Amino acid sequence: MIYLDNNATTKIDHRVYHKQCEILHKYYGNPSSLYPFGTALKDAILEARIQVARLINADMKNGDRIIFTSCATESNNSVLFSVLQPNAQGKHIIVTSVEHPSILNPISYYKSTGCNVTYIDVDSDGILNEEKLLSSITDKTVLVSIMLVNSETGVVFDIERFAKKIKAINKKTLIHTDAVQAAGKIPIDVKKLNVDFLTLSGHKFNGPKGVGVLYIKSGIPFHSMLLGGHQEFNLRAGTENTSSIIALGEAARLAFDRVNSGQINNIKVLRDSMEKQLISSFPDSLIFGKNAQRVCNTTNIGFKNVDGDKLVLQLASYNICVSSGTACDSLSAQPSNVLRQMQAPEEYIRSIRVSLSHENTKADIDYFLKILKCIINK
Ligand code: PLP
Repeated sequence: MIYLDNNATTKIDHRVYHKQCEILHKYYGNPSSLYPFGTALKDAILEARIQVARLINADMKNGDRIIFTSCATESNNSVLFSVLQPNAQGKHIIVTSVEHPSILNPISYYKSTGCNVTYIDVDSDGILNEEKLLSSITDKTVLVSIMLVNSETGVVFDIERFAKKIKAINKKTLIHTDAVQAAGKIPIDVKKLNVDFLTLSGHKFNGPKGVGVLYIKSGIPFHSMLLGGHQEFNLRAGTENTSSIIALGEAARLAFDRVNSGQINNIKVLRDSMEKQLISSFPDSLIFGKNAQRVCNTTNIGFKNVDGDKLVLQLASYNICVSSGTACDSLSAQPSNVLRQMQAPEEYIRSIRVSLSHENTKADIDYFLKILKCIINK
């Protein structure tokens, strides 16, 4: 199989897998127990927290908190819950119109309860309308939530610059970034980004599914969505998913090493060469976000009047995995919201997304291009 859908999910790294299996199989204790069979797990969870903190340059010694959740969807929902409950009425929040549904859908709910929401648009390259963002901030703006990397196009938003300007206008406005698609692809530094909350998901950087991270900056109040036991510093109740958390820690260690070695550049070289060949074979195609800063692994391409959904299935019959739109949206049969927001021309909007990993080779890309040409030219 040629797997080119790494923005949907990634293959678990073999070292991460072995760590998880070992915990599941041998160390099944409860970290809240008092005896060593439990407390050893507490230590292992702390080690995982330290690995995540290193990945995003959080400073736990100075009060920054790393909370493990069940997924990025929970982390995103928790931030909104914490800032907007118990009464969202009259509060103002700002989001981009191209966020993941785990932000946009809860926001629709809060909007229905009286929260004022400003959606910031993007241009045809996927670049955020900074002027609108900054002019929308008022003294009632409690939160700005902007993803670090767009899942469909790979476009990177300049959170560092936005956050500086937002805080200069209203220093009380909290800033959240959904960094799910950034981990393992670009350096993440919460201090430079100047964010109060940040979300990650284990399965997007070669960790297990069903485990996420929420970073909360030192001193920022946080109200838990899940009430119950005292786990996660009273900020996220529920017995810890020990094996997944510890495995995620290992994945964070590996992602940090990947970003800080030449590996991400190798992915970019492969992706750029693939794009060159795509453009030369299909001059009538459109790569979305091509003129914006993008992460190293993502190509979102529309072929004139070619239906991306059909193309995905045809490629699948050759054992090639790519996607059309986000994995979560691909069941909806609607053209991608992100491309709609980018005002993609109708004949190109049913695009495909090809997202590479460090495991892909030139041979994978050659085979993909060969099959793609056969299918489209037929
Ligand atoms: N945020 C972004 C940008 C994503 O791409 C995804 C998954 O595709 C999520 C959030 C949700 O992640 P999870 O599946 O861990 O809930």
